[in-house]
Amino acid sequence: MNHFDYICIGGGSGGIASANRAARYGKKVAIIEASQIGGTCVNVGCVPKKAMWFGAQVAEAIKLYAPDYGFDVTLNEFSWQKLVESREAYIKRIHGSYDRVLGNNGITLINGFARFVDANTLDVDGQTYTAEHILIATGGRPTIPDIPGADLGIDSNGFFALSEQPKRSLVVGAGYIAVELAGVLDSLGTETHLAVRKHAPLRQFDPMLSETLVELMAEHGPTLHTHSTPQKVERNVDGSLTVYFDNGKSLETDCLIWAIGRVPATDNIGLENAGVELDDKGYIKVDKYQNTSAANVYAVGDNIGYVELTPVAVKAGRLLSERLFNNQIDAHMDYDLIPTVVFSHPAIGTIGLTEPQAVEQYGEENVKVYNSSFAAMYTAVTQHRQATKMKLICAGEEQKVVGLHGIGLGMDEILQGFAVAMKMGATKADFDACVAIHPTSAEEYVTLT
Ligand code: FAD
Ligand code: NDP
Repeated sequence: MNHFDYICIGGGSGGIASANRAARYGKKVAIIEASQIGGTCVNVGCVPKKAMWFGAQVAEAIKLYAPDYGFDVTLNEFSWQKLVESREAYIKRIHGSYDRVLGNNGITLINGFARFVDANTLDVDGQTYTAEHILIATGGRPTIPDIPGADLGIDSNGFFALSEQPKRSLVVGAGYIAVELAGVLDSLGTETHLAVRKHAPLRQFDPMLSETLVELMAEHGPTLHTHSTPQKVERNVDGSLTVYFDNGKSLETDCLIWAIGRVPATDNIGLENAGVELDDKGYIKVDKYQNTSAANVYAVGDNIGYVELTPVAVKAGRLLSERLFNNQIDAHMDYDLIPTVVFSHPAIGTIGLTEPQAVEQYGEENVKVYNSSFAAMYTAVTQHRQATKMKLICAGEEQKVVGLHGIGLGMDEILQGFAVAMKMGATKADFDACVAIHPTSAEEYVTLT
C-alpha cells in the first residue's frame, strides 16, 4: 500500500509537474504536501501576485489614463477585500483543477510533512512510505533580518494574508518581490516606501532596466530610499511602527514588509539520513540530471539555488521524469537563456547577458548594443506619458543576439516570442528580416539601427 515507484516531496510547481509526467508513463506515484497543493506559485507567489498586479493596472487605467481617453470616471471606493476575495476564489478554482488532474492521473496525495528515514524511506507524521525514486521539491521560504523588532514586520506570505489595505507601507529589499509588492501597494493607493541597502533596486539586472525603473518610480511610484538598511524596528503606542536605518534616518509606517530574499526548505527533513549533501547556503547539490549525492534521490526547483522561477521548476521536473520513466537517458534541463519578467510598473522583461556581462565575456570591441527609447502609445495619447526603453545586445561578427532587455508597457507579453528566437540562435540580421507589426512596442526590436 505504502510503496510507490516515485514519491515527490512537495506539491508545488516542480513536484506536481514531475509527478504528472511520471504517472503518464504508468508509474505508481505519490505527492506529499505539508500545506496547500500548488505550492508557493499558486498560493503565495506568482498567481496571487499577478492578480494584485492586474488590480493595480486597473487602478492606473482609471486614475491616470481614463480621463484623456474621454471617460469621466469617479472612483468612489476601492475595496481591497473584494480584490482579495476574487483572487482567492480564483486560487480555489486552481486547487480544484489540480485535484481533478491528480485524481485522473491516479496520483496519491498525502497531506503531511515528510522526513527521510533513509534514501528510500520517508516518515510522514508517523506513517512510513517507501519508493524506488524520491524527488525533493520542497521549494523555499522568505527570510527576515536578524535585527531587534524584525518580527514586527511581515514577509510576502504575510502580504497575501492582509485582509485590509495598509494606509502606509514600507517594503525592504531590492529584488523581484520588493519591487513587485511596492509597485502594487503604491498603485492601489497605499502610501508606499521602498528601502534598498545599495544605490538601486534590481542591481543584478542590466543597468538600463534598473536606472529606468528608478526614474519611473520617481514619476509615479513608491518613494525610494537608497543606502537604507534597517537596524531596529519599534512598535509605537498608536500601533504604528518606526523603522530605524543605518544612515541615521527613520520612518514611521503601518505595515513593514521584508522582501530581502528566500532560503531553501531543506532543513529539518532528515537529508542526512539519506546522504543528500547541501552547499554552504543550504541548497541541495545536484548534477545536470538533477541527481543528488544519494542514489535515486533527486531535487528540482527553488531548493537547488539555480533559477528560482516556476517554469524552471516545472521543466526540470518534467525532464527528470522523462529521463527516469520514459527512457530519455540524456534528458536534462538547460539553464541557459531563461526569459524572466518582473511585474513592476511598467513591466520589465529580460533574457540573456546584461551589457557588462557581454563586454566581459566577448570583449568590448566584439559587442554591439542597440537602444530604443519612446513613450508607449497607450500612454502617449494622454498627459501621463510613460517611457519605454529597449535594448538588444549582440556579439561577434555575425551579431548573435545574446541579451534582450526592456522596460515598458506590454514587456511582460512581448518577451516570450523573442526568447524562442534567441534559443534558436537568432542574429541581428534574423531580427531585421522579420517584418514589424505596427503600431506596437514590440516592433522596435526588429527595427533597431
Ligand atoms: P514550491 O512551489 O515552493 O513548492 C514546494 C512545496 O513543498 C510547498 O507547497 C511546501 O509546502 C512543500 N513542502 C516543503 N517541505 C515539505 C516537506 N518536508 N513535506 C511535504 N511538503 C513539503 N516565479 C515565476 O516564474 N513567476 C512569478 O511571477 C513569480 N512570482 C513570485 C512571487 C512571489 C511572492 C514568490 C515568493 C515567488 C514567485 N515566483 C515566481 C517563484 C516561484 O513561486 C517559485 O520559483 C516556484 O514556486 C518554485 O517551485 P518549487 O516546486 O521549487 O517549490
Ligand atoms: P531576490 O534574491 O530577488 O532579491 C533579494 C534582494 O534583497 C537581494 O538581491 C538584495 O539586494 C536585497 N537584500 C538582501 N539582504 C538584505 C538585507 N538584509 N537588507 C536589505 N536588503 C537585502 O529575492 P526575492 O525574495 O525578491 O525573490 C526570490 C526569488 O523568487 C527571485 O530571485 C525570483 O527568482 C523569484 N521571483 C520571481 C518573480 C517573477 O518571476 N516575476 C517574482 C517574485 C519572485 P541588494 O544586494 O541590491 O541589496
